[in-house]
Amino acid sequence: MSCNYAEGLSPYNHKGKLGLPEVFDEPAVVEGKVRKLAEWIKIAKHVVVHTGAGISTAAGIPDFRGPNGVWTLEEKGLKPNINISFDLAAPTLTHMGLTSLINSGHVKYIVSQNIDGLHLRSGLKRNFISELHGNMFVAKCSHCDREFIQKSSVPTVGQKEIGLDCLWVKAGGRSCRGKLHDNILDWEHNLPERDLEMADMHSSLADLSICLGTTLQIVPAGNLPLRAKKNNGKVVIVNLQPTKHHKKADLVIHTQVDKVVELLAQLLGLRITPFSNLLDPTYVLRHNDFNVKLNSRLVDWTIPVSSVSKLKKVISTLKSNSASKPPKPINRRKRRRTEQEDSSESEDEYDDFANGDFESFVKEEKNMPEEINVEADSSLLPLDLSASSRVKTEGTKVERDRREIGKMPRIETCVNAQKFSVVNLLDYKPPKL
Ligand SMILES: [Zn+2]
Repeated sequence: MSCNYAEGLSPYNHKGKLGLPEVFDEPAVVEGKVRKLAEWIKIAKHVVVHTGAGISTAAGIPDFRGPNGVWTLEEKGLKPNINISFDLAAPTLTHMGLTSLINSGHVKYIVSQNIDGLHLRSGLKRNFISELHGNMFVAKCSHCDREFIQKSSVPTVGQKEIGLDCLWVKAGGRSCRGKLHDNILDWEHNLPERDLEMADMHSSLADLSICLGTTLQIVPAGNLPLRAKKNNGKVVIVNLQPTKHHKKADLVIHTQVDKVVELLAQLLGLRITPFSNLLDPTYVLRHNDFNVKLNSRLVDWTIPVSSVSKLKKVISTLKSNSASKPPKPINRRKRRRTEQEDSSESEDEYDDFANGDFESFVKEEKNMPEEINVEADSSLLPLDLSASSRVKTEGTKVERDRREIGKMPRIETCVNAQKFSVVNLLDYKPPKL
């Protein structure tokens, strides 16, 4: 549960802006903005999506800084009244939509701050994601640094040993002697090197950054989307609350991420693969009790060195072919903390929101000229906005989230190419003892 995760972290006083009021665009405005986003995606060469806790609230996992977020309520001495276990949560429409957008080539990479493992469980392959703050369904070896998918969420946070030996077998048949620990960062831990490198390089290549369900307050994750601006690219933010970088964004959509992803898929002519347990490696591991050590290759969640070096070569080639100033590499030692504490990021000056002047921020945003054409275009795909129109202000966010959970696809029969390791796992025969 998010609460268990939150309680497992060290005490920390700089959690950023908490509980800012949510803003809801009218359905017609949402449609106009998503149409614009779809057009930008069609012409973009390298789309990178940055995800935060807001994409998992529809799965029943509370966010942190929303009106009912873990940190917001903690400040009041309260806890969220809806809090599903990580093991019972299922990937949302947004998780499945993003995996489909990756598979179709519309999105090149995902950078996530989420530790809930739902991207992994949506069938996304490791080459397409950086998990900057860890993953509750992954354990890491203290000796060889390899990461392994677990059958259920790990019992600890803060990179503590979980009582299992490393699964890795070296060439020659010798086992690694390392111990596995969780890979969940505490506040002051360094970010995982390969994840950060990949996120940094893809963000530098991006000509369109799309931020979903994050207030962008944690660094360095929150600043990575802005790299697209230095690349003459665009930044799009989809979030109910205002975010730290609203003023720098080219487009801000205030509505639930699921509605945006669903509409986006329609506009791009993309079918979102429904969630299936067979896409979820953790499910397959849970239901294959071989009672022997699994082949480590089948559960390996390590970013291959070759992926990092290949991308470095691409960037190096681009740099040598470009007269423009190459992007400044990210500070590898930078740790995870909120922008409030981090005065070194001079490139990201504080705006009204960061200074806490929320009212003037909203006032200014509402006075901005509407550049989105919201007139319906009957020549385009028929769009079902009935779900969007139900949002408005009825009920609390938690109640809305509850209704969303009931709508999550849970079809068990989906079979497609994404079954990758699942097939291998199902075919796996344990050696005779
Ligand atoms: Zn190892």
